[in-house]
Amino acid sequence: MKDTNCIFCKIANGEIPSKTLYEDDKFRVILDLGPASKGHALILPKEHYANLYELPDETAGEVMKLAKKMAVQMTERFGCEGFNLVQNNGELAGQTVFHFHMHLIPRYKDDGQKIGWKPQEVTQEELEAVVKCFGAEE
Ligand code: 5GP
Ligand code: ZN
Repeated sequence: MKDTNCIFCKIANGEIPSKTLYEDDKFRVILDLGPASKGHALILPKEHYANLYELPDETAGEVMKLAKKMAVQMTERFGCEGFNLVQNNGELAGQTVFHFHMHLIPRYKDDGQKIGWKPQEVTQEELEAVVKCFGAEE
């Protein structure tokens, strides 16, 4: 299903032009217009899924395989020295376009980017409470 109001549906299906690195019958990989680094790209499914929760299992598997293939080729061709896969779900997590996408971010020495989080202190009891909360008893 496509969403007629979704810009990534239009880009993925070629209704809006984009700088495309790869395309097949289910996906398009485009360059991000606000790149973190040279070659920052996005994997877009051609079908509309708002986020990871909506993505069918089969498609999720295909996305990861494609991410690996792209990472290998981009590393060879762009000469990057590291690689981040980033995938945001929900506004709180930084998602700004609500059509599932996986960021492919080549990393270079001195690229000035910092992708990460601030580690918090945690006790053994707190870790155990999380395991219990998830429902996996030790
Ligand atoms: P999010 O924050 O949702 O994980 O990532 C959305 C990404 O899409 C951002 O990195 C942003 O730069 C990129 N983006 C937003 N609109 C467009 C667009 O129209 N074309 C392209 N190529 N990238 C876009
Ligand atoms: Zn869409």
